[in-house]
Amino acid sequence: MIVEMRKGSTAEEVDAVVQRAKSLKLGVQLNVGTDKTVVAVLGSNTGQLSTDIFAVLPGVESVTRIMKPYKLASREFKPKDTLVSIGGIEVGGKRIVVMAGPCAVESKEQLMESAQIVKGAGAGVLRGGAFKPRTSPFSFQGLKKEGLEFLAMAREEFKMPVVTEVMDSREVGLVSSYADILQVGSRNMQNFSLLTTISRTKGPVVLKRGFSCTITEWLTAADYLMAKGNTQVILCERGIRTFEDTARFSLDICAIPVLKKASHLPVIVDPSHAAGHYSLVPAIAKAAVAAGADGLLIEVHPNPKEALVDGLQSLTPSDFTRLMGELRVIAKSVGRYI
Ligand code: PEP
Ligand code: MN
Repeated sequence: MIVEMRKGSTAEEVDAVVQRAKSLKLGVQLNVGTDKTVVAVLGSNTGQLSTDIFAVLPGVESVTRIMKPYKLASREFKPKDTLVSIGGIEVGGKRIVVMAGPCAVESKEQLMESAQIVKGAGAGVLRGGAFKPRTSPFSFQGLKKEGLEFLAMAREEFKMPVVTEVMDSREVGLVSSYADILQVGSRNMQNFSLLTTISRTKGPVVLKRGFSCTITEWLTAADYLMAKGNTQVILCERGIRTFEDTARFSLDICAIPVLKKASHLPVIVDPSHAAGHYSLVPAIAKAAVAAGADGLLIEVHPNPKEALVDGLQSLTPSDFTRLMGELRVIAKSVGRYI
């Protein structure tokens, strides 16, 4: 941490900063300039300390962090890429893993039909929400346990792993007894008790980016998932809220290379929730693969016109099959395959 003293700060004020650092067993390097004094506070855990510790002391102008606040998710901590393994499928390797299916599980028939379509087109994982985080309490909330049972049936029938959202710490046991991958939704990215409970399960988990969260906050949330021993974390960019309102959210394509540099965790992209409209999904899905994403999470519905949730952004079976063909070409051009 770099503690910049105010112009004219007294020797006592500088010494108070030095003593505070020493009381925390941190190293100190003093740089006394003609105008200003700067105190470098050194130690491997300064990323996890609050800058307030020094900012509140008299005579301090500013405190700047050098170390990142996240640790377990960082590439400094683990230089080698993490591979998340789900059954026989690995996320983070050469294969681009496509997870596809309806926004919500609506019925056994709808899910079975979806599974058949997405598997036939080459998706590796079936998605489907049984617990839905809806903006209004009066909207369809998902089939809950019954939806999980349908997911388990589809997994058996089509020999495909399933990913589904868990919204509440009290339901982690239930959902993980059915799901191959737990999904933490955008609205729950900073639900720290949920993240801690999931950390204890040690099973694969997709952490969606909070739509108003920075990449640093996202990676620090990933640290919560890893703090109790889970190493199987996949990051999912799904669009953030910006001033732009023509799409549902703004897909942060830049997040992909930024995360690849900052973290060892696999990165997937959800073009469906970012776009909000089926016509935009193929272009941004292809951009994500070209930019280095390790996978995609795509909403596909056998009949989007009748979908209970997110019909407008869901691909039809034929649009999805066409997109998969196009994605194979892009994947090949970046040395990957689907
Ligand atoms: C979803 O994937 O079904 C979902 C609700 O996404 P998000 O949490 O990104 O809004
Ligand atoms: Mn949805």
